[in-house]
Amino acid sequence: MLEEQVAVVTGASRGIGRAIAVALAGEGARVVVNFVSNKAAAEEVASLIREAGGEALTVQGDVSDRTSHARILGEALRGFGRLDILVNNAGMSKRQAFLDVEAGDFDYQIGVNFTGPFFLTQAAGRIMAAQGWGKIISISSVHDAQPMRLNSAYCAAKSALVMMTKCAALELAPAGVQVNCVSPGAILTDENRPRLEDPAYLAQVLAKIPAGRVGGVDDITGAVLLLASPASAYITGAVLYVDGGMLLHG
Ligand code: NAP
Repeated sequence: MLEEQVAVVTGASRGIGRAIAVALAGEGARVVVNFVSNKAAAEEVASLIREAGGEALTVQGDVSDRTSHARILGEALRGFGRLDILVNNAGMSKRQAFLDVEAGDFDYQIGVNFTGPFFLTQAAGRIMAAQGWGKIISISSVHDAQPMRLNSAYCAAKSALVMMTKCAALELAPAGVQVNCVSPGAILTDENRPRLEDPAYLAQVLAKIPAGRVGGVDDITGAVLLLASPASAYITGAVLYVDGGMLLHG
C-alpha cells in the first residue's frame, strides 16, 4: 500500500510511535525512526523493520528544539530521497496541579506536544507542497477535547495541536497536502503498564471507557494507516478519536 513512500515518525523508539513505524514499514514505507535519548531502542526498531525486509534509518532529535527539525526531516531526504508522510507522534506530559505548573515544565510540554509539531508540520508542509503531495498525521489525545486533572499544560498543548492541524489543512489542501490528527484514549504502553496493572487504577480508567477495555498500540496504527493510505485521499483537517468511546462521557 505504501511502497516507494518515505515516512518520518517522531518518538518512534517506544510505545505508540514504535508501533506506527513498524506498521508503516509493514505496508512498504521506508521509515525514519526519530528518538530523543533512547538510541538503543530506536536501533532495535530499525533492526526489526530491516529483519522483516524493510528499510529504516534512525535520527536523534528533540522535537521541542526547532534547530533539530531540518536534521530530522533531512534524514528522509538524504537517506531515502523523498518525504511523503510525517507522523508527529513524540509527546510527553508531567503531572502537576494547575497552581503548581512551573514555567520551565510548561515550556517543555508545549514545546514537545505543540510547538515542535507546529514547526515540523510547517517544514514538512513546504517540502510536500512543492511536490504537490503529502500526508501529515499528528498524534494528539482524547484530552485535546476532554480536560484532565493535573495535566493542564499537556491538555492545552494537544488542544492547540488540533487547531493547528485544521488551519494547516485549510491552507495546504490546495497544494495536495493532507493534515489530520489521531487522538488516542487510554492506550497500553510499557510506560503506563505498571499503573494499569494496579487493579484499583485500572477500574477507575475502565469506568470512563464505554468499550470496556484499554486500547492497544495496534488500535492506533489502524487509524494512522488509514490516514497514510490512498483510502483517505479526501480526508483533511479531521480529528479521529480512537478511544473506545471515552469522549462520549464528555
Ligand atoms: P511513550 O511510550 O512515552 O514514548 C514516547 C516516545 O516519544 C519515545 O520514543 C521518546 O523517545 C519520544 N520522545 C519523548 N520526548 C521527545 C522529544 N522531545 N523529541 C523527540 N522524541 C521524544 O509515549 P506514548 O504513550 O507511546 O505516546 C505517544 C503519543 O501518543 C504522544 O504524543 C502521547 O501524547 C500520545 N498519547 C498517548 C496515550 C497513551 O495512553 N499512551 C494516550 C493519548 C495520547 P526516547 O525513547 O528517546 O525517550
